Amino acid sequence: MTANPYSWLEDALTTIHRADWYRSVQTIEGRSGAVVQMAGQAVINFASNDYLGLAGDDRLMQAAIAAIQEYGTGSTGSRLVSGHRDLHEQLERAIADLKQTEAALVFSSGYLANLGTVSALAGKRDLILSDQYNHSSLKQGAVLSGATVLDYAHCDMVQLRQLLEQHRDRHRRCLLLTDSVFSMDGDLCPLPELLALAETFGAMLLVDEAHATGVLGAMGGGCVEHFGCTGRAIVQVGTLSKALGSLGGYVAGSATLIDYLRNRAAGFIYTTGLSPAATAAALAAVAIVQQDPDRRAQLWQNVTQLKQTLSQQLAANIDGDIKLLPSASPILCLQVASPAIVLHLGKALRQAGIFAPAIRPPTVPTSRLRLTLMATHEGEHLQRFTTALSQAMQSGLER
Ligand SMILES: *Cc1c(COP(=O)(O)O)cnc(C)c1O
Repeated sequence: MTANPYSWLEDALTTIHRADWYRSVQTIEGRSGAVVQMAGQAVINFASNDYLGLAGDDRLMQAAIAAIQEYGTGSTGSRLVSGHRDLHEQLERAIADLKQTEAALVFSSGYLANLGTVSALAGKRDLILSDQYNHSSLKQGAVLSGATVLDYAHCDMVQLRQLLEQHRDRHRRCLLLTDSVFSMDGDLCPLPELLALAETFGAMLLVDEAHATGVLGAMGGGCVEHFGCTGRAIVQVGTLSKALGSLGGYVAGSATLIDYLRNRAAGFIYTTGLSPAATAAALAAVAIVQQDPDRRAQLWQNVTQLKQTLSQQLAANIDGDIKLLPSASPILCLQVASPAIVLHLGKALRQAGIFAPAIRPPTVPTSRLRLTLMATHEGEHLQRFTTALSQAMQSGLER
């Protein structure tokens, strides 16, 4: 008789529990928004990537319903076979317009857009240099490509230059990978410096605008617009699932790049095209991003206000155990000493009607509460958060 070949799963889970790394899903009831229902209780939502509050917006919902009525629910095949609709083309033109690029290509998720693009742009003879804090989809794309992959310390341009000097010549092509807004910290990549290095060393530069599109830049074009780098030779990847309130991903860049990816990106070719509903909702969202800059201004006003209040509040906290990490986005992180403390804070806030997720290793190097702000948060929501945080911090000390 042989041993159960799956028994190691129990052991692995036990290890995860012991490290306070265990994770499970939580149900959100009803429609997305700044306030959502969880377990029958209304909670203020600081956990969503829906920065502009569009995922529950009537205009997106109506666009999705109209698309379902016209085209049905599924796109029924690969975009290259039976899955392509004129909606996809309209969305790709709208994204190219938002990004001020020649062209764009829509994928079925941001994760797939990164896997597909990175693995199509680099191969065995090539070099990929990647920020250590990059999103999982960039890291997995790099592995999938078969290229030599070297990580540089977070935003460390001195180290990146050294790596380029040491290794660039020994490889055919070189690809630099970076998040533009880092998803677990909220800081920005040094885009102008990255571009300068890319040009000096003849490297391609791919930036992941997942948390920046619709959020940064006067027109919502993202970090590239924010830094005044519009029109430069950058491969921009992003998602339709965050500020755009839908589902799916995209790549924006030169017409040649997009034509190449349509023919070579496995994550585009061998998967079903984006559904009509998701496509139409994203299309409606891009129009709102472009036509309603006040929505973005409201988001940034909320960011400024909460940051101010939090820095005052934390400065008064003699304990000094909680630190607001540097951020230039609507992602604000409160770093704490241990997974146990952050779990305690998350639970205490939850009891006070606040949903602010505790993020722990191995997702991030240090435990933190990660808050995301929305344009649709009201002053009272922010106030209730800071009050609940004070109480949660006190109860933490008494424990
Ligand atoms: C969310 C995210 C993705 C993945 O996008 P999905 O559309 O959710 O698959 C990729 N990169 C970054 C930086 C992200 O935050």
